Amino acid sequence: MAPGRAPPGRVVQHCLSSHGPPGYTNDGPGPPILSGPPGPSSVKVLVIEDEKKIASLIRKGLEAQGFVVDVCGHGDDGYTLATTRPYDAAVLDIMLPGRDGLSILRNLRSRKIPLPVVLLTARSELNERLEGLNLGADDYLTKPFFIEELIARLHAVTRRASGVGQSILTVADLTLNLLTREVKRGEAVIELTPREFALLEHLMRSPGRVLTRVQICEQVWSYDFDPGTNLVEVYIQRLRKKVDADAPVKLIETIRGVGYRIKPPA
Ligand code: CA
Repeated sequence: MAPGRAPPGRVVQHCLSSHGPPGYTNDGPGPPILSGPPGPSSVKVLVIEDEKKIASLIRKGLEAQGFVVDVCGHGDDGYTLATTRPYDAAVLDIMLPGRDGLSILRNLRSRKIPLPVVLLTARSELNERLEGLNLGADDYLTKPFFIEELIARLHAVTRRASGVGQSILTVADLTLNLLTREVKRGEAVIELTPREFALLEHLMRSPGRVLTRVQICEQVWSYDFDPGTNLVEVYIQRLRKKVDADAPVKLIETIRGVGYRIKPPA
């Protein structure tokens, strides 16, 4: 088992995001790895919410904006996911079966896990909301809310967490603008699909760091990908054609038997 991955079993049973009972399901056919949400960001969000209708609306809304979303309807399993898998933010309901939202938050913070958290609260839960903010929630929304509002809060808390609105990633003469979505090699503009953009963004966020296929899949696709797939290889090849083919210096490197990285600054 790769480090950082939860043991198979309960979590997966309760929280499978796209296939398999009894977790919430995607309404679309096929696993998310194939349905590939388009959009402006590869921010990965864990949604811990037991009301299926709300959870499903959140998933659809976020995926339409390019977020990668895992949904979990049980507090204990949500906590396990939050502590064992890489997320950029969590949307956390307060009343949950198993561990409640506030106790999840309390445990995350006491373990010094800095995952940005947006709490979902009912109008009647004023005390819980205050307690949540005291415990270290980054923001909250009162139900019912507009999905656009949640998206704005998530962008705000993840920007804060990633250290201040760095909107342009640069490696050598390759630049990726997170706001305008423009990618350039020197002065040449490179057209990427949303998924290619997400993969390149992920590589460029840590130049020099080798990312395994599993890590890439977890960040750029949902966690329940098929480990037998060669999707990562396929996308790396596509990126190479677009980013490196015409350039004298190749930036995307294969580390044999390990994974991929983008060349560190010289
Ligand atoms: Ca609830």
